[in-house]
Amino acid sequence: MGVALEKLPGIVERFPGGSVAITRLDQAINLARSNSLWPLMFGTKCCAIEMLMATGASHHDLSRFGAEVARASVRQADLMVIAGAIVKKMAPRMRLLYEQMAEPRYVIATGSCAISGGPFMYNSYTVVRGADEVIPVDVYVPGCPPRPEAFFWGLLTLQRMIREGETIREPGIRRKPVMAALPEDVTIHEIRKEIRGTLIDENVIDVEKSANEKPWAQKVREWIRKASSR
Ligand code: SF4
Repeated sequence: MGVALEKLPGIVERFPGGSVAITRLDQAINLARSNSLWPLMFGTKCCAIEMLMATGASHHDLSRFGAEVARASVRQADLMVIAGAIVKKMAPRMRLLYEQMAEPRYVIATGSCAISGGPFMYNSYTVVRGADEVIPVDVYVPGCPPRPEAFFWGLLTLQRMIREGETIREPGIRRKPVMAALPEDVTIHEIRKEIRGTLIDENVIDVEKSANEKPWAQKVREWIRKASSR
């Protein structure tokens, strides 16, 4: 019992005045659930090599975190790891897969493509700008691609969120999404807004200003002025 009390603070408590340990049923279930996640085999691009193959191989060994049994059927999975870009044609299928997963279900978006569209965020007519435009995401893991260690950090973040869940089952309840590897008060929406602003600023060309900076443009302008005054 000593080991249980030491390793599971806040989950198992000693009954006052006795040698009995008590816990709440939902806390015990959430603890078990957090340590037995069943990821869905779902990779769409290069990030899948890191997330679904490198992390599962013996060197990094995802099984240390109790989530190594990837399922080919959504009906047996409770964790969707989105690794790669989602194209618009695929988005309805991804939504369908998510809907078919049993509650409670969790989603980790790994890599720039899954978080924001990555290099395809600007001016792409095919790529969805972030998986959370299609399904709710619980944890974002930044990188291109994120290293397996970064993915593990995201997984540990998700496990902590599950353990801190208040109830056993919350159908349809959205958890507050977090960005693994960033302070908790920085949200993905703030980052995305800033990136979009920067992209727009950098791609708006002030023709007048850039013409004034170029000597040849001054000559062209002078030539046009003279030609039109003839
Ligand atoms: S984030 Fe980078 S590594 Fe991952 S799928 Fe996109 S381009 Fe590939």
